[in-house]
Amino acid sequence: MSTICAISTPVAEGGISVIRISGENAVNIAEKVFRPFTCESVGSMAGYTCAYGQIHDGDKTVDDGVLTVFKAPHSYTGEDVCEISCHGGIYVTKRVLRLCLDNGCEAAQAGEFTKRAMLNGKLSLTQAEAVMDTISAQGEYALASANLTRQGSLFGRIDKVTKELVKLLGELAAWVDYPEEDLPAVEESALRKSLQDALSVTGRLLADCDNGMLIKNGIDTVIAGKPNVGKSTLMNLLLGYDRSIVTDIAGTTRDVIEESARLGELVFRLSDTAGIRGTEDRVEKIGVELAEKRLEECMFIIAVFDTSAAPDDDDKALLEKVKSLGKRTLIVLNKSDLESAADEGFFKGYCENIVYISAKDPDDRSKIQAAAEKIFTPENYDADSTIFANERQRGCLAKAHRDLTAALEALDMGETLDAVTVMVDYAADSLLELTGEKATEAVVSEVFSKFCVGK
Ligand code: GDP
Repeated sequence: MSTICAISTPVAEGGISVIRISGENAVNIAEKVFRPFTCESVGSMAGYTCAYGQIHDGDKTVDDGVLTVFKAPHSYTGEDVCEISCHGGIYVTKRVLRLCLDNGCEAAQAGEFTKRAMLNGKLSLTQAEAVMDTISAQGEYALASANLTRQGSLFGRIDKVTKELVKLLGELAAWVDYPEEDLPAVEESALRKSLQDALSVTGRLLADCDNGMLIKNGIDTVIAGKPNVGKSTLMNLLLGYDRSIVTDIAGTTRDVIEESARLGELVFRLSDTAGIRGTEDRVEKIGVELAEKRLEECMFIIAVFDTSAAPDDDDKALLEKVKSLGKRTLIVLNKSDLESAADEGFFKGYCENIVYISAKDPDDRSKIQAAAEKIFTPENYDADSTIFANERQRGCLAKAHRDLTAALEALDMGETLDAVTVMVDYAADSLLELTGEKATEAVVSEVFSKFCVGK
């Protein structure tokens, strides 16, 4: 395999830059461009050691820097790796890169170092994907989960169920293919139990994935309430800037306005909807219908009420609707700066999660955050089991779950063991694709195309 190089730090001015070289000629090439001051030669350096020295292009000094050497297989890629740290200027960094290319390296493709690590058995595909998740993590939860996946937790959980399925397939194949061998029959009840066990694992993994996606991609949230209770003001408070039109004319927000807001570790995909109330206005009616549809689809409802007035029929209708939907809900009793005409006990009858705020007071943003954190953590977030899967991983898992369900159904309907075997085979294939053990070149290329160059 060729020896590759790339700039592994951002191409921007900074303290230092790192140019990484990986491949069987890494040490030879580093020897040509780096003259160590602190040891005899690059070739004499042991793995996990570094040397201070000069980066040179023939007689010309390019920069002073530090060379770190990793020897195969104890390196990120599993190959010999040399990393040159030079001063972090854009020109000097590109100059060192060019020097490596001129001395025999090939330019690395996006994610090629990590791809080589995978091909050399240092990482599974899910662990490789978690490297990118670690780089792109925007908060503690995302980082903790990416770290767990990188350390192999997702791979371990999938691998266990895959091994069970492969063992089962072995038994089924032996029994179906060699009936004359007098092999012990595959007990239907034992087979059913194995399929049920596998299904419960894939079901649990899917639920953990969904929890992860919720935190990674944001919680689909609808801000609902009749007109003029302060929904748009609340939306602007949560966003930290004015996005929604705030007026005291009822029915101003007619379409659904969507934005993302981060409250602590939680990201909410907020929809500010038209005020829900009975109306004869044709345009407003469309807005109300859209708002009701969003209520049905969303994951979290923030129901807003104006505490300066006693609840009326529109408020009660919304409370009834929210209660019947049975979703995670926060009742916001707004306009707490005005004299209160609302009775908290009345609202408690519909939902336990209630917070008093004035959406006009920036300090009250933290009250919403505290209330939302109570609803979504900690029991709904478990760092050890939440999986920050991507769409590819979730797709493989969902397919395996469907195929296992079909296998169990085939068994229940008294179909031949052949039919059951085919479905179990599909399920095992999907799981092997997930971990990369049986992923096609196209799938692997697609995964690494999302990486940055130098990783
Ligand atoms: P929406 O129709 O539910 O989106 O309500 P808006 O956000 O447009 O607000 C309606 C009116 O109530 C505006 O005049 C806001 O300035 C006012 N308002 C919103 N929140 C508060 C609050 O906490 N206290 C007071 N006093 N007025 C508020």
